[in-house]
Amino acid sequence: MPQTASPKLDSKCPSGPIDAQWTRHKFDLKLVNPANRRKFHVLVVGTGLAGASAAASLAELGYRVSAFCIHGSPRRAHSIAAQGGINAAKNYQNDGDSVHRLFYDTVKGGDFRARESNVHRLAEISVDIIDQCVALGVPFAREYGGTLANRSFGGAQVSRTFYARGQTGQQLLLGAYSAMMRQVGLKKCALYANREMLELVVVDGIARGIICRNLVTGELERHAADAVLLCTGGYGNVFYLSTNAKASNVTAAWRAHRRGALFANPCFTQIHPTCIPVSGHYQSKLTLMSESLRNDGRVWVPQTKGDARGPAEIPNAERDYYLERKYPSFGNLVPRDVASRAAKQQCDEGRGVGATKMAVYLDFRDAIARDGAATIRQKYGNLFQMYEKITGEDPYSVPMRIFPAVHYTMGGLWVDYNLESTVPGLFVLGEANFSDHGANRLGASALMQGLADGYFIIPATIASHIAGRKFQPVDAQHAAFGEAEQTARARLDQMLNLRGKRSADS
Ligand SMILES: Cc1cc2nc3c(=O)[nH]c(=O)nc-3n(C[C@H](O)[C@H](O)[C@H](O)COP(=O)(O)OP(=O)(O)OC[C@H]3O[C@@H](n4cnc5c(N)ncnc54)[C@H](O)[C@@H]3O)c2cc1C
Repeated sequence: MPQTASPKLDSKCPSGPIDAQWTRHKFDLKLVNPANRRKFHVLVVGTGLAGASAAASLAELGYRVSAFCIHGSPRRAHSIAAQGGINAAKNYQNDGDSVHRLFYDTVKGGDFRARESNVHRLAEISVDIIDQCVALGVPFAREYGGTLANRSFGGAQVSRTFYARGQTGQQLLLGAYSAMMRQVGLKKCALYANREMLELVVVDGIARGIICRNLVTGELERHAADAVLLCTGGYGNVFYLSTNAKASNVTAAWRAHRRGALFANPCFTQIHPTCIPVSGHYQSKLTLMSESLRNDGRVWVPQTKGDARGPAEIPNAERDYYLERKYPSFGNLVPRDVASRAAKQQCDEGRGVGATKMAVYLDFRDAIARDGAATIRQKYGNLFQMYEKITGEDPYSVPMRIFPAVHYTMGGLWVDYNLESTVPGLFVLGEANFSDHGANRLGASALMQGLADGYFIIPATIASHIAGRKFQPVDAQHAAFGEAEQTARARLDQMLNLRGKRSADS
């Protein structure tokens, strides 16, 4: 078992009224003066939304930053896949939204398992994230008059989701990437592409560096610093088939765990209700159809078990729009866990559709009749195109077939209110940590959390470590780096020498 550097967990949540905690905490935190910041070196592992925004913000503040990207370019980070949108309590629609309502919806949607202080902070910061992204040039969808547009996501009765068609993650990532590359251009941030972190280096109980592998040359490298930020995403791929990119491989979080960073709620995995069903044995991943589609698409199954008719032959009276029937106040936009359970139940009871019978319909017929195909194309065109490419069916004329799939991990490395793990000096941001979503994340809240962590929280809370602890300079010749490199090398050699006859996936 790994040694825990700090087995007694202290969340460090501030006391007092919840809506004043973050403001007071920021004031209570020590500051690092601008001239001192350049003396400290921070490693940022993973350059998705959380990592790129953290690297940009810390470098902007004056810290020396090194960012490690597993891909050839940070523009390829997994966050690029995010489709539907990002939540913020702006109340632009004047439909009753507020910071408190976003806080409440998030805590309730997560089955009251989230850390409430963190969630309130997230809801407060949400409004600043949109301003920050607009300032960076993110092209959010707008109304005719120029104001930012919103749509609805599951688990909310207000419209608070900002979006850029079905490519919100890509556009937000380009914003964070541009901010980070500006710092790379200013030589305040060193970018290491094609690097996979293989080990965390802990010296005297404090995270002081990493061992990573150059994926082009195969060489192992040592990087020493004063703090390490893990922004390496979730672990949905432990289930093999998921909507995650294949490079979201949990190596970093797992190695950190073996060095003493505790996991929290690892069983809290989100099963997303609207994915393209498994279609064969040679599939390496699954494709998401964004939750935003449930704004206009209606979910249904035939009322009769084993009904073999095509969807067009089944009249309305013989369809069961089961989400609208069971949950009239949320309708098709119930939270993900509810929609997924209901779809599985329908299929288990014999009402599944398609060749495998492990699917339900997501039907746009009524929305197209009401708003016209052009409007639907404008909102979801790229998702419809993706669906048609994968299934060969045109969702403008035939309902989509969808089924739940592993999508997101609410669990992750345990962090305190400062986003610090149980290894001092090791901070965990974005999907890699556990703190904000309880047992179920609301749609469009992961992008919000990653950017809150990177742009707004870590720039303040990293001072708790930098200014709050005394630690000696360490370089990569320290014995702990030698031991960690040796461990990584031995593991690689073992795998390369296995001479097995089949792949790990087979
Ligand atoms: C298909 C899809 C659609 C989604 N749509 C939405 C949406 O509309 N709204 C929303 O809020 N959320 C959405 N999500 C969730 C959201 O995209 C993610 O939770 C979020 O982008 C995670 O950001 P991150 O920065 O924490 O991690 P990531 O973007 O996953 O970045 C982490 C990076 O670290 C890399 N990495 C992993 N291990 C290592 C290592 N050992 N060394 C170096 N690098 C490593 C990974 O490959 C990855 O590129 C969606 C997710 C998926 C899969």
